[in-house]
Amino acid sequence: MLNSGLSYDEIWERSKEILKEKIPNSTFEPWIMPVVPAKEGEDCYKKDCMVLKSDKSFGVSFLNQKYFHEIQNTINSVCGVNLPVNIIFMPSDVKKAPKKKEKPAEHIVLMKEQIDNLKQMHSFCALNLKYTFENFVVGENSLVAYNAAKQVSEAPGQKFNPLFISGSVGIGKTHLMQAIGHNILKNFPDLKVKYAKTEEFTNQLVDSCQKGQESYQKMKKFRDRYRNVDVLLLDDIQFAEGKKRTEEEIFNTFDALFHLGKQIVFASDRPISSFKNTPDRLKSRYEWGLSVDILVPDFKTRVEIIEKHALRSNFEITREVAEFLAETFDNNVRELEGAYNKVSAYASIKGVELTVESAKEILGIDENAKKITPEIIIEECAKYYNVTKKDILSTARAKEIKEARQSAIYLTRELLNLSFPAIGEIFNKNHTTILYSYEKLKKELVFNKALQSSISEIEKLF
Ligand code: ADP
Ligand code: MG
Repeated sequence: MLNSGLSYDEIWERSKEILKEKIPNSTFEPWIMPVVPAKEGEDCYKKDCMVLKSDKSFGVSFLNQKYFHEIQNTINSVCGVNLPVNIIFMPSDVKKAPKKKEKPAEHIVLMKEQIDNLKQMHSFCALNLKYTFENFVVGENSLVAYNAAKQVSEAPGQKFNPLFISGSVGIGKTHLMQAIGHNILKNFPDLKVKYAKTEEFTNQLVDSCQKGQESYQKMKKFRDRYRNVDVLLLDDIQFAEGKKRTEEEIFNTFDALFHLGKQIVFASDRPISSFKNTPDRLKSRYEWGLSVDILVPDFKTRVEIIEKHALRSNFEITREVAEFLAETFDNNVRELEGAYNKVSAYASIKGVELTVESAKEILGIDENAKKITPEIIIEECAKYYNVTKKDILSTARAKEIKEARQSAIYLTRELLNLSFPAIGEIFNKNHTTILYSYEKLKKELVFNKALQSSISEIEKLF
């Protein structure tokens, strides 16, 4: 503390404000800003002298040469006395923490490296950082798949090779597959992991096959991309079914990687048994390791998924609302999450409390609306055409019955958006018959006015 009553820190703060107006910013920011007064107790501290230190050696010599007088005069004007000023270089490692404290720092550096690696990986192979094992809620529906994925990520290429994950749309296959990628990178940072969707694989293959001057180079680049890796995660493999060139390339890529002991993971919306147009030799490769299926999560798991999601996004959701969502969206986790995202975003923006009632309103769920089921559609069509439900489900070919059946199939598809195999099960027909029947009626609707009015009359009943 000087006679002026100001401490060295205060004098320097005020001086800086004045200097900022006098010294160009290109000098002020890099060289003046890092400067601080020495404190009592430090080796370089001198009584009755303003010792200014900086860890920028070039900055110190530059300030001493060009701005020393400016700085000295400013300081003197602030404190009102002729105070000697020293600007000195003080490397920052002089203040380095004692050795003992270095340990956590190393740990932090390591963690940072891992995070950087993950980020690098994220951009290298388009991995979603959200898709980790920690963020995956394990239920009975996914326990086997989860355990297999975990084991693969702990010993890639050594256990289940390939791992084949199947399950319907939006059920968590991609999530689990990418979790393997994240965990491998965490456990074995030197391994090269590649995630790709089969559609992307096909597009790149087509691109590489095009004839031209660089075709050899292009193909080599493509193969390097998929074979020069330690772990290949190939998603949505059902996309390859029946695509000859793609399936052949997958087959060869598989063999090249497998013989080098590299890990391969496939995911598909359909089980291998449904790959009717895939050559047997490739199907047998798919089945070589372990095939696991993810099923629809049960109610309890669906509630947990919502609650975990809410926790991660820091949104408070009541058990009642989580249960309401889990009850309403019962066969697709992506849709369940989508509904949660919609209601939580809406409630946050509007600043209203999220209740079951407001959730229903946001999602446009009308409780009084009659819940449409295939049975109700069949019943209404039977009534309209004056036939029985049994007739519709039979193979009878009388005109009225045929029309009633086709309308019921058409409406089941249009109103409930069920898959053709699922509709086939309801109507005791195979899915190609259902597809044919649906397409036929759809085409006829374009020009058949009587049919148009029949269908719209039945639709009005719902
Ligand atoms: P799929 O690949 O089977 O179509 P995804 O893996 O893309 O489905 O999952 C759809 C969404 O649902 C993703 O946002 C994913 O994080 C989420 N999800 C699916 N299953 C789970 C689960 N068990 N726990 C947490 N989130 C899940
Ligand atoms: Mg997927």
